[in-house]
Amino acid sequence: MGNYEAGLAFAQQADKKDPLAAFRDQFYIPYAGHGKESVYLLGNSLGLQPITAQSSVFEVLEDWKNLGIDGYFKAKNPWLTYNESLSTLYADIVGAQSSEIVAMNTLSLNLHLMMVSFYRPTKTRFKIMIEKGAFPSDQYAVKSQLEFHGFDPVEGLIEVAPRKGEKTLRTEDIIQIIEEQGDQTALILFGGMNYYTGQLFDMEAITRAGHAQDCVVGFDLAHAAGNVPMKLHDWDVDFACWCSYKYLNGGPASIAACFVHERHGRNFELPRFAGWWGHEVKTRFLMGSEFIPSSGAAGWQLSNAPVLSLAPVKASLEIFAQAGMEALREKSLKLTGYLEFLLDDLGSDVFHVITPRDPAQRGCQLSIIVHQDGKKVHSALMEAGVVCDWREPDCIRIAPAPLYNRFQDVYDFVQIFSGCLVAHSGVTEHYKSA
Ligand SMILES: *Cc1c(COP(=O)(O)O)cnc(C)c1O
Repeated sequence: MGNYEAGLAFAQQADKKDPLAAFRDQFYIPYAGHGKESVYLLGNSLGLQPITAQSSVFEVLEDWKNLGIDGYFKAKNPWLTYNESLSTLYADIVGAQSSEIVAMNTLSLNLHLMMVSFYRPTKTRFKIMIEKGAFPSDQYAVKSQLEFHGFDPVEGLIEVAPRKGEKTLRTEDIIQIIEEQGDQTALILFGGMNYYTGQLFDMEAITRAGHAQDCVVGFDLAHAAGNVPMKLHDWDVDFACWCSYKYLNGGPASIAACFVHERHGRNFELPRFAGWWGHEVKTRFLMGSEFIPSSGAAGWQLSNAPVLSLAPVKASLEIFAQAGMEALREKSLKLTGYLEFLLDDLGSDVFHVITPRDPAQRGCQLSIIVHQDGKKVHSALMEAGVVCDWREPDCIRIAPAPLYNRFQDVYDFVQIFSGCLVAHSGVTEHYKSA
């Protein structure tokens, strides 16, 4: 990386040289008013709409209009097997076999469905280990699972916290806690990437350490999927869940997905909540009373696939297939490195970044803590056409997404941010202004 320069010319040059630059044209960039495109840095919360999303949804509507129920078999992409094409597209994004992936439901719901199968507590081994400061839905999900199984969540939850004075976790500390408390732990359920700090965890090391203690290891990949390349299969991860509306640009509350490792996909003894769409396809429509699961992740489906809601996700995943995760990661490292460089260059003591400086421990996002009047700074940013996110009490999260963000977006953001700090955050004239 490195070799960044502060001026606008660098950003413009970098955009010119960017082999992925044309992908921006495949997305609608929201306007900030006055017909000006916003500086959209919120792909970690809601990704932008691919231009092809509309035609993808429209295709399903047309098939329904023209074919009625025959759409299940005769649609351009037959509805009966529609989500198999998503599994195939997902395989490269998360590093799995397509049979290990199923697109279904939404994320929090899938976490519960996965825990039905993969959180199997006993009297002596019942704890769930998560990272401290996990996304609230994940905290609620694991606590309610503990309670559902009759355990006290205070006793049953192990939260791995950063060292005193630190904001992010050290892998060696995570491993040590797994070694110390693994024998009481039934399930390790970490975020692949923490939503708040933007820290990317070493999923391979966590999985290995967990398995050495006979724990089941799953990940919530809401902030990792479409952000960083992964190798879920090779890392031997037991299961994973992710939503598709953040970096994956599938649309608000779009259909989520699960990964179930092949080893478990073939294990029909695993308890699971069953529904007719998880039944093996060959005999599903014999409508028998005995549930025979499909092999692979597909065996966890309950209902028939919501093709209208899958359609924009499919359109988006096709763009990922064109770009490729490795190329996206390469650009992302440069783009986020550039953001870090410009923020360093501001050299300010009125904010600091809590996301790890090590590129291997982060994805697109940098989380900026503003020491004073952060909320005003954030409002001013939004006012000036920067779309980014505010997390109480003092955090602004900035996520340049390599599919549609430019180096110029990062440059513009830092210029505007600098001006907002001068206006709102008690910065005096020694400070560089925009
Ligand atoms: C975004 C996010 C969620 C959201 O859950 P939904 O069920 O999609 O509303 C859950 N967990 C994590 C870690 C997230 O980042």
